[in-house]
Amino acid sequence: MKIHIIGSGITGLTLGNLLNSKGINFNIYEKNNEFSKISSGIQLGSNAIAILKKLKSFDKIDKLSIKTKKLNVFNNKLRKINQLDISNADNQPSFFIRRSDLIKTLSAEIIRSKKIRFVEFERQKYADKHDIVVNCGGIQHNKNSIPTKFLGVWGISNHTNKFFKELNLFMFSGMHFVSYPLTNNQTSFTIVLRKDLLSNHIDQVAIIKKLNEKFPEDLLRLINNAEHIITKEISYSSKTQWTSEACINIGDAAHHIAPHFAQGAAQGIIDAYVLSSSLDNDISTAVKSLEMRTKFIDKLRYHSNLNRQIYHLGFPLNLYRDIFIKLFTPDYNWIFKKRL
Ligand SMILES: Cc1cc2nc3c(=O)[nH]c(=O)nc-3n(C[C@H](O)[C@H](O)[C@H](O)COP(=O)(O)OP(=O)(O)OC[C@H]3O[C@@H](n4cnc5c(N)ncnc54)[C@H](O)[C@@H]3O)c2cc1C
Repeated sequence: MKIHIIGSGITGLTLGNLLNSKGINFNIYEKNNEFSKISSGIQLGSNAIAILKKLKSFDKIDKLSIKTKKLNVFNNKLRKINQLDISNADNQPSFFIRRSDLIKTLSAEIIRSKKIRFVEFERQKYADKHDIVVNCGGIQHNKNSIPTKFLGVWGISNHTNKFFKELNLFMFSGMHFVSYPLTNNQTSFTIVLRKDLLSNHIDQVAIIKKLNEKFPEDLLRLINNAEHIITKEISYSSKTQWTSEACINIGDAAHHIAPHFAQGAAQGIIDAYVLSSSLDNDISTAVKSLEMRTKFIDKLRYHSNLNRQIYHLGFPLNLYRDIFIKLFTPDYNWIFKKRL
């Protein structure tokens, strides 16, 4: 029996690393002719760190990351209204790393063991009927993925100061802004905004112009010193689907969660671990192990969409929200402190 992994994103590479350490026979297929080089940062939630620690490449990931246990929440006047704990049950922090560094580190082991093929996966060509196909093909392979009314903008800035050395969330009417530090004194940012704020033109120039009208000078400095900016429509899947067309789906291919909790990659990493731990049994047991995660993923999807609504409230509801967040610290222990 052989495992065929479709896709060399964070989910597929994590699964490959875990299978390699168990000595299980596999290949990864990537339809592009190289690993992804997307120039942006990524938050690896503390809930995924216990799994990354099991990988041979963990020391490298550790060195390439900035860590924090706190999330600072700001209102639209850049006043800090609360600070939330995002450490895990072992008091470990979340990691902040360039996506390209993470992919490079995770792929090193796969290249060394010659398990990667840069071709589009075709079942008839590569797999026989006893093999297991794991779809880690991301949203392109998620039939339930639907567009939303929101755009994502993300980039890595050469600007930093004391303010940007931590994980920050800034809430504005119809948009929110997240910043976090990276190594080499750079700052990564992600912005989510409502498409209808942009009238008819949804191109990068129109988006940057709108951001320049809306954001205070401190945040604009990040955007205006960015090496490269990526803009993308935000989509998400309305349900979780662990199997389709004789494949096991994991990561974004199974559950595409909107990025308002920064948990997409973390959940792909957890799926890869759950699947790799149950592959010694028969397939139906492996699928059942994934199905036990459905309730949690659905809760995450619900709260991710709810978060966006709360972050984007306009006047006067934003004033009540700010008082509420100040008085009642939101509790995210159900995500970050949950043991696997
Ligand atoms: C604005 C934004 C910010 C985000 N920020 C965060 C964050 O801070 N933290 C976090 O945890 N998550 C974040 N996410 C979510 C995260 O990026 C995704 O959840 C994660 O990258 C999904 O990884 P994946 O490996 O499942 O899929 P992908 O990264 O999409 O990888 C799929 C791979 O499969 C390949 N492929 C597809 N079809 C085939 C085929 N037929 N044959 C061979 N190869 C194929 C593709 O080329 C691709 O390389 C964010 C998302 C967005 C949009």
